[in-house]
Order: sequence, then structure tokens, then C-alpha cells
Amino acid sequence: MALATTIMGDTWPQLDALLISTLRNAERILCVSHVAPDGDAIGSLLGMGWILRAIGKNPTLALQDAPGEEFSFVPGYADIVGEAQVTAGYDLIVCLDASSPDRMGSIYRTADHVAIPLVVIDHHVTNTRFGHINWVEPGCAATCQMLIYLADAMQVPVTGPIAQALLTGLVTDTLGFRTSNTTARVMQAAMRLMDGGGNLVQIVDWTLRRTPFSIIKLWGEVLNQVQFKDGVIWVTISRAQRESAGVDDKESGGLANQLVTVVGADISATFNETVDTQGRAAVECSFRAKEGFDVSKVAFALGGGGHPPAAGCTIAGSLDEISKRVVAELHEARRIGTLMQTAEQKSRG
Ligand code: 5GP
Ligand code: MN
Repeated sequence: MALATTIMGDTWPQLDALLISTLRNAERILCVSHVAPDGDAIGSLLGMGWILRAIGKNPTLALQDAPGEEFSFVPGYADIVGEAQVTAGYDLIVCLDASSPDRMGSIYRTADHVAIPLVVIDHHVTNTRFGHINWVEPGCAATCQMLIYLADAMQVPVTGPIAQALLTGLVTDTLGFRTSNTTARVMQAAMRLMDGGGNLVQIVDWTLRRTPFSIIKLWGEVLNQVQFKDGVIWVTISRAQRESAGVDDKESGGLANQLVTVVGADISATFNETVDTQGRAAVECSFRAKEGFDVSKVAFALGGGGHPPAAGCTIAGSLDEISKRVVAELHEARRIGTLMQTAEQKSRG
């Protein structure tokens, strides 16, 4: 990608003129976010849709996997299309909240799309800069936070549906303003979105304070066999356990988030038995870490990605074999984190 431009942290919010003019000059825009979409994927996709509409565009918003009904309150939810409605005839693709091209899943078809300019907007530290224009800001707590600054640069007010969509991603990616990257700047961003009409109570009720009963049954089954050793806590979730609880593929109700709160646990993991895109037995891994520990490096080395405190990957193989191998890597990450903290404490005296 000889023409690739990477916009790094120092330059925002003075956003690169090329990014702005590229968005302004495009007519047929495809916006896409990542597979198994979370609140930031859906919020940034819909938020981008509303920002582009505010400047007179009519973008196509696409996701490989249908968004969960817990996001149906976000304005524009019903406009999101799947793979079947995605054509080859675009003059720009905008990829949101995805750290590598595989995360777009079946929406991005190399044969149809490789010649189309690709803009990447993302906040993952593991982003591989796979676009022609890459705006990557790991200092932002959510891709939705970045879009506030983009709207500012384009003189689009962050009000109404834009505010509600962007606040959804900011709330969900910070787990309700509780993650360690929740800076004063994040809170200022949230205040602006609330001033613009974002409904915090509705977002929290629909996304964070909502658990299907089947998830509670699944937790009951798998927590019987939780394992906790040397600061790492983990569970495996088999297909049989999911089926008996009546839970869909991939869903674990954010169990890794719960496990990392355990006293004495520095790193948590869930291992979810699944099949990969080629239909082979595979394991979907979710990692969480307490402050001072980094699971993004483990995930990236295993072909996935994420942030230091929250990351994941999918690996071909059996549940038993993969969980054993990955737990060994997590113990190593925990050892490194502990060493670094000890060194830091010594240097502080
Ligand atoms: P979760 O555990 O909630 O699925 O994901 C936590 C974080 O890791 C999210 O930021 C998500 O984007 C990232 N992540 C999870 N799975 C994958 C994966 O397979 N590939 C990449 N690149 N990132 C992942
Ligand atoms: Mn995100």
C-alpha cells in the first residue's frame, strides 16, 4: 500500500485533511464494522451513517453478523444490511472499530473491493493499518469517541441520532465508564453526547443491565468447573453446555468481564467451543486483564487483537488442547506484568 497514510495520535483532533476530503468527495460509500458486533461496532457504524447523512451522503451500512436485539433502540438499527445487500459498486469503504481486515468478515470481498479506497478508523492498539488512510487512536476509549472529533472536524453537530449512537459505543466499550481508559476526556465526550440528546439511562438499561435467563443458566453450568491458578482464572464453554442452556454460538454474556473481578485474579479467560470460517473445530478466546497486565499481546500473537485490558482471538483446534496452550501463554503474560510492576515500584523507591 504505497499510498497508505497513517494518522497517529498526535495529530488529532486536527484531523488529516485527506481523510475529511475523501469522505466529502465520495458518493457511494460502504461502511462496515466487525464480526460479532458489540456496542462500539454498532454505535460507530450507525454514528458514521448519521454523520455522512448530515453531509448529504446515503451510505450503505453493513455487518456480517446481525446486531443483537439489545441494540434495537439505537436509531438506524433497522437500516443495517448483511452480506447479500453488499455490491461491488462503491467509491469508498469506511471500516470502523476493526483492527485487521479479517474482522470485516464476509462483507469485505477482496475480488469486488480491493480496488476501492479503504479508510480505517479504529482505536485498537493492535491495528495493522490495512487501509489506504488509517486513523488509529489507541488513546480513545471507543471508536465512537473518535467519531465525535470527526464530526467536529466536519462541522456536523453531535446531536439527536448521532449522539445516541456514539454514546452507545462509549458506554459499552468502557463498561459504563469503569475501564482504566476512562479519562476526563472520555467523560467530557460523554457529557457532550448527553447534552446533544444521548440517553444514558436507556443505553445502560438496554446494554449493561440486561442478561437473558439462558446466560444465567450457562454461567451456572460452566462456573462449576472454573479454574484459578497463579493469578489466571478461566472457564471452558462446550457446545453441549451452550445447547443445554439454550445459548447461541459465541454468546457468553461477558463472562470474562465477571471473572477478572475475582480477588487475586489478574487475568481472566473464557474458551468457547465453535467452528471457524472453514468449518473446522475452533475455540473463541476472550481475555480480560486488571490494570498493569496486557492481554492484547497474547491475542495478537495468536492471530487476534484487542486492547491491553480486553482482547480476543479464534484458534483452530479442540477446546481441551487450545485452552491448555493459551492458559500457559496467559500465565507468561501475568508473570511479565508482575515483573514490570515490581520493577516500577522499585524505581519509584
Ligand atoms: P471480546 O472478548 O469482548 O469478544 O473482545 C474483546 C476485545 O478483543 C475487543 O476489542 C475485540 O475487538 C477484540 N477481539 C476479540 N476477538 C478478536 C479477534 O478474533 N480478532 C481481533 N482482531 N480482535 C478481537
Ligand atoms: Mn471498540
